[in-house]
Amino acid sequence: MRLSNGNFGHNWPLPITQWFDDELFYSLCCRFHYIAGNRLSGHTAKQLFGHARHGTQHDFPSNLDTFVQRTSGVFGDTPKHIILQHTILPFYLPWVSCSLGTELLDQLSRGQAARIKSLLGLPSSRLRANHPLRACPECMHEDKQRTGTAYWRLTHQLPGVRVCPTHKVLLWQFNEKTNAVRRFDWLLPRNDAFYPVAYTLTTHCQLWLDRLAQAAIEIFKLAPNIHIDLNTVQTAYRTALDEQAMLRGRHQIALGTVCQRYLAFTRSCRWQELGIMPPAQERSTTFMLSRLLTRQPCSTNPLHHLPLILWLFGDWPTFWAAYKHAQAPASVTPVHPRTSSDIPDTQAQRLTQLVVVQGLSVSAAAQQLGIAVQTCQSWAAACGIRLQKRPKSNLERIAAIVKDLRQGMEQKATAHKHGVSSSTISRLLLTEPGLHIRWEKARRALAQKRAQSRWLRAMTKHPNATAKQLREIEPASYAWLYRNDRAWLQSKLRKLAKHSVDRSTSVDWAKRDEKLHGQVQQLYQQLQRDGELFPITVQQIYKSTPNIKPALSSLNRLPQTRELLTQIRKRSYRTSKC
Ligand SMILES: [Zn+2]
Repeated sequence: MRLSNGNFGHNWPLPITQWFDDELFYSLCCRFHYIAGNRLSGHTAKQLFGHARHGTQHDFPSNLDTFVQRTSGVFGDTPKHIILQHTILPFYLPWVSCSLGTELLDQLSRGQAARIKSLLGLPSSRLRANHPLRACPECMHEDKQRTGTAYWRLTHQLPGVRVCPTHKVLLWQFNEKTNAVRRFDWLLPRNDAFYPVAYTLTTHCQLWLDRLAQAAIEIFKLAPNIHIDLNTVQTAYRTALDEQAMLRGRHQIALGTVCQRYLAFTRSCRWQELGIMPPAQERSTTFMLSRLLTRQPCSTNPLHHLPLILWLFGDWPTFWAAYKHAQAPASVTPVHPRTSSDIPDTQAQRLTQLVVVQGLSVSAAAQQLGIAVQTCQSWAAACGIRLQKRPKSNLERIAAIVKDLRQGMEQKATAHKHGVSSSTISRLLLTEPGLHIRWEKARRALAQKRAQSRWLRAMTKHPNATAKQLREIEPASYAWLYRNDRAWLQSKLRKLAKHSVDRSTSVDWAKRDEKLHGQVQQLYQQLQRDGELFPITVQQIYKSTPNIKPALSSLNRLPQTRELLTQIRKRSYRTSKC
């Protein structure tokens, strides 16, 4: 393949022809620049984009039409293909309207990149509009080993991604290619050109940074024709707030409570410190939340939504399922049927089964049927099912769930008991301050109590059993105690050792000696027959059968065996002297 460059009157072969795995478009141009050996960055930009400063923007490059034409489509036959596969724009596209999306693609293909950030509303979003280049030190090392050079990975540049999804380490931030420094240059990552990492992550921060990164990647992977409807997003938010008892009455959002809990969560994740969110001030956060949660035109910057989504839903897939549910078209079944004949038979039967037979709450039944709670209530009325008056408010229910979790109740059992989904329980555990640690402690205490009582019961039931026998009777308890409560287990095992001394009086040592003596003799003869080299040693005897070596500690009670082993040893000794 050749570089088609009519303007310069050249027709050079392309110095590179392939993408690297997960490579950013800017990175490909950097590699082109290095391998082409151009002295100035402007030369490369002119060759690829027809202008000394076009294409050099690492986040939103411009003039991709010219690039595709000059590289004869080797790296993608259309600008759109390259933009969707190798720039960060697809992270933003689902959040803007279809027409704006088309305009953005058009700008990157033909126009000036300078307008892109304004069109996306980034400068006015209270978040920094730049996208510093980032890299994972371990990926850089591996890429260098594999390809000969470190390069910029697209995934690491996605807004919100601060840890490497593969190696789970904090990404390094490049200290060049910023607004003032070498902004028009082609620069590949170098170990000495990054800011020092000033953070040590706790497990909690690590977990949520990883979920944030996964969410950003999921957004990037959404099909190009998907446009997220912000009204539906707000509906999903309100449903989640309702489930978590943060609505006053049926509709009013308890904004003060929401803001406090949201800030507590984001501060615990240190997202403000890492620059993922604007500085956490209560007044500005309340204002932002009111825009995101209430029926007002809200931000289309996904970085405003992502922290809220993770706080409310725990992860992106759970949010996406809730969004799809909120988006689902109205059922063909009337929302307010007059009689049961208005409802499909299968649905009516299922509703009866769930509410009357299984005793589920109306909200739990609605969730299983995939319909709104109000619809479920109407269906139940039409089917003649008398619903129990809702026994508890959401707030009371959450308090009851939290109480059970604090006592270490298992997640599925808690969900079943309170008629909520498992994801609601997981979310509560992760978002209620201190609850997860308390729950784990309680779970451990319960497991400890269970294992200890089972072990003690086994000891009582089998007073003469050895440790090995008890271990076979209670393998799970033994394993748990061995891993988690070894001191207690050993104290009980020491008592067993005393029992075994007592039991020893009942051993028929003479019989055992006779049996073992015969066994050693047989082994000796067998080894001779097998043609083992003479002299046969006691070590060979020990290796041939596992039950002789343990008897060595009791040889004073096994005179025949001891005498035989001594003879074997002496014979061996004499032979080796010859
Ligand atoms: Zn990595």
